[in-house]
Amino acid sequence: MISPAEALAVPLLGALEERLRDRIVARAADVRVSEGEWFLFEGDPAAFWIVIEGEVEVNSDASGRLEQMTTFDPGEFFGEVPLMLGAASFRSCRALSPSRLMRLDRADFHMMVAESSEASAIIAQTVVRRVGLMSEKFVAESVNRAQLIGGQYDTLCHDLRDFLSRNQVPFEWLDSDDESDRSCIPEALLKGDRLPAVVIDAEHTLVQPDLRRLADALGLQTQPDSETYDVVIIGGGPAGLASAVYGGSEGLKTIMIEREAPGGQAGTSSRIENYLGFPGGISGGNLAHRALQQARRFGTEILVTREVAELRPVPGMHDIVLDGNQRIQTRAVVLATGVAWRTLTAKGVMDLIGRGVYFGASATEALETRGHAIFLVGGGNSAGQAAVFFSNYARAVTLLVRRDSLEATMSHYLIEQIRSKKNVHVELGVTVERAIGTSHLEAIVTRDADGAEQTRPAAGLFMFIGADAQTRWLPPGLERDARGYLLTGRSLETWAEKRRPFALETNIPGIFAAGDVRSDSVKRVASGVGEGSMVIAYVHQYLETLTHATA
Ligand SMILES: Cc1cc2nc3c(=O)[nH]c(=O)nc-3n(C[C@H](O)[C@H](O)[C@H](O)COP(=O)(O)OP(=O)(O)OC[C@H]3O[C@@H](n4cnc5c(N)ncnc54)[C@H](O)[C@@H]3O)c2cc1C
Repeated sequence: MISPAEALAVPLLGALEERLRDRIVARAADVRVSEGEWFLFEGDPAAFWIVIEGEVEVNSDASGRLEQMTTFDPGEFFGEVPLMLGAASFRSCRALSPSRLMRLDRADFHMMVAESSEASAIIAQTVVRRVGLMSEKFVAESVNRAQLIGGQYDTLCHDLRDFLSRNQVPFEWLDSDDESDRSCIPEALLKGDRLPAVVIDAEHTLVQPDLRRLADALGLQTQPDSETYDVVIIGGGPAGLASAVYGGSEGLKTIMIEREAPGGQAGTSSRIENYLGFPGGISGGNLAHRALQQARRFGTEILVTREVAELRPVPGMHDIVLDGNQRIQTRAVVLATGVAWRTLTAKGVMDLIGRGVYFGASATEALETRGHAIFLVGGGNSAGQAAVFFSNYARAVTLLVRRDSLEATMSHYLIEQIRSKKNVHVELGVTVERAIGTSHLEAIVTRDADGAEQTRPAAGLFMFIGADAQTRWLPPGLERDARGYLLTGRSLETWAEKRRPFALETNIPGIFAAGDVRSDSVKRVASGVGEGSMVIAYVHQYLETLTHATA
């Protein structure tokens, strides 16, 4: 416990009446941390901290990479700003040398401020000073890590924008097709065929980089650190991310491999409203970002822009072949590869993908729809969510639905939300026949229930017409249902082992499946997260069977 002499040495505590100081000290925690140890993470419940011994540093990763904001010495305090705002901690802290800190919880901090006008005045002055410093820093320094320069309808530029936003890298986009942006673009980049380009940290310019080069330049991991793992998770959607968190936290040597950016389908969702614990909803990108931080904190390696090209089952130690023929080995595999969007088969659609025709409803596309008339195709919840989301950007949103009603395919709350939006129109019994455009989408041709065709100017066409499992690349011996989804546990028809299969195990021992790729799974974020978490328990049990077999 903090001694009276130690408390008196802290100016803030010294300003308290003795009785109040004793009460506060008796209620405070005496936290001891070793050098380099993290004791507070962004998003943790806010608390009030006073440094008693040692030195601590405060970090932020608002710019997409960890940066030291300030340090605190004995006698100094922090944490009061989020406490007063009723928010969670928005910084992470670690000790620079062996340190002791006094931690007060919210209620005790409130008691101290309410009962001591001296403490309240000291804290108020500090808050004013700190908020002033924060705003100076905000104005002086760009929060952007990258500047992307390229045209709106350039497909590589679109992919780069999508990649930056899905990896939560703060960036500025200068549209080379827009006169007002062109004046800010360096002449050298506008000459010749040098766009799109990405300027990282205002220092390095990458001309027409592929996603891997961009990821490397941003310091994202693209190479495995080892050659062997306890578990390799393939796919970084909600199921893969949950497995990554549980695998790392339960001490398994874990790597998650994602071919694009973490988040999967959920990463393209503007707002997930039904995920437990987020009463106001949460964007899929934000959810994925939080999960990533959590997985990394537990030591899981996360590879981005890497595709698993082949899985070669070998009893006890499976072979994983990454793109470029790079190999790693693993005792267990979690297949969390989800599903891939279906594309409209209408003429012209394939040629315009990324240039006005898109899947999903991510923030990347939202900005492009500002002030325009756009069309969405599909009658499910994802189409409904997107219609509500885009209504805040586009001038007019038309939802084209092949069926003659929404009730059977869309949740009631979404139908109500759509009805309340004046700029969203629903057309039932309508199909898209053609997409028209040369460098980008200009119009679509629709056909109504009576067979009448109409050509309509369109700035965007967004497809939400379902998805399919892509499992053809997996070993032929892996059991699938008629639609290619992976069979697991009790649904298996072929199983050669003496023991029974674990619930999420495929017919090849040690290869598990979780989330949307699994046959009969509930195609939702929560169920993907649930299966991704559960599967690690089965991986443990499976690894035990290997240990017994070799004992
Ligand atoms: C627009 C939209 C809105 C949605 N809204 C909601 C909602 O509000 N609530 C809700 O509960 N659900 C919602 N869903 C459904 C939910 O997002 C999915 O059920 C969930 O994402 C499935 O998670 P998953 O991890 O199984 O697969 P996915 O999210 O599909 O992720 C699979 C990942 O695996 C990667 N991958 C595939 N193959 C490979 C390979 N060979 N190598 C490396 N990586 C690979 C893919 O790139 C992808 O990132 C929505 C879906 C969409 C599309």
